[in-house]
Amino acid sequence: MRLKLKDMGKIEAAIVTGNTLAAHAGQAPGSGIRDPQNQDWRRLWRDSVTDPRELLTLVGLENLAESILPRLDTGFALRVPRGFVARMRHGDARDPLLLQVLPQAAELDDVAGFGFDAVGDLDALTATGVLHKYNGRALLVAIGSCAVNCRYCFRRHFPYAEETAAANHWREAIEHLRTDDSVEEVILSGGDPLSLSTAKLAELTSALAAIPHIRRLRIHTRLPVVLPERIDAELIAWLRGLPWPVAVVLHANHSNELDASVTAACARLRATGAALLNQSVLLRGINDSVDALAALSKNLFECGVLPYYLHQLDRVAGTAHFAVDDAAARALVEALRVQLPGYLLPRLVREIAGESHKTPL
Ligand SMILES: *Cc1c(COP(=O)(O)O)cnc(C)c1O
Ligand code: SF4
Repeated sequence: MRLKLKDMGKIEAAIVTGNTLAAHAGQAPGSGIRDPQNQDWRRLWRDSVTDPRELLTLVGLENLAESILPRLDTGFALRVPRGFVARMRHGDARDPLLLQVLPQAAELDDVAGFGFDAVGDLDALTATGVLHKYNGRALLVAIGSCAVNCRYCFRRHFPYAEETAAANHWREAIEHLRTDDSVEEVILSGGDPLSLSTAKLAELTSALAAIPHIRRLRIHTRLPVVLPERIDAELIAWLRGLPWPVAVVLHANHSNELDASVTAACARLRATGAALLNQSVLLRGINDSVDALAALSKNLFECGVLPYYLHQLDRVAGTAHFAVDDAAARALVEALRVQLPGYLLPRLVREIAGESHKTPL
């Protein structure tokens, strides 16, 4: 879930398929496919909140609607599943879940250093849909859609390239992975790869299973957190049938995201034998306190999930209001080190273009 873009020219050159547009217009991807077992999560996906006024009304903040809404045209729609909205505190304009999804006027600010060229990933696209920057692991952009639109995400500027991989059945991506025997680990990313139907995922992994040098599979997904119903029996059966050890890297930023439905989804995932990790983004006003980060780590562990990365925000236009400076970020992690066992301390990192790994701070 961490693809960034190089420049707008390349993005404009990207071909936006009808499928991409449908996904961003709120239609669940693959929803044309008959797949009765998936009806439930797809129905919930389609039923997501997309109107800021409705969101504010649901959380008891309709009085804010007049001040916030008329000024906004961010080009990145609101999208949030109702189950995630239900975890927001009623009447609290500073709620850490609300702030992750509600469009804010600050997104329109033009801030120096926050542009469209965050990490230069498109330079690393070695084959359509594959980002191969680090030794031994290659990231496959399986699909561009997500169930939630996180305001801090680079994806806000990517009109999105799921066609790069999915539309041609990942043919070029798989060809790249087949011919490069240095790739031991494939990371399914996006967008959110679990946006794909399970049938599509199975099609992809059976092609990967024919490549002998692939030894591990990793899945980067926010769906177990924002739409835990996605972790249904069919998905679990697919995971159990995979021929490799699997790591699932979730994305939660605040302990309030982890309710009973998420705990249950994590338990289903763990029962497949997959290793569960979590990555977070350090976000001002949302999780930039020792208490918030400690609670997140502890609650993740109660879900059977270990903290992995705490990312410094990618400097993407429209997200500057979420930034925490490096000195403050380091101080937070040092204070957290005093509070927590070592295995619950996330690694504070930043992604820097051209580096061969995430850079520890
Ligand atoms: C972040 C990232 C990875 C994974 O890095 P790890 O340190 O192994 O988690 C792999 N490929 C790309 C392109 C990435 O951005
Ligand atoms: S789930 Fe959120 S952070 Fe992850 S890719 Fe989608 S919009 Fe971005």
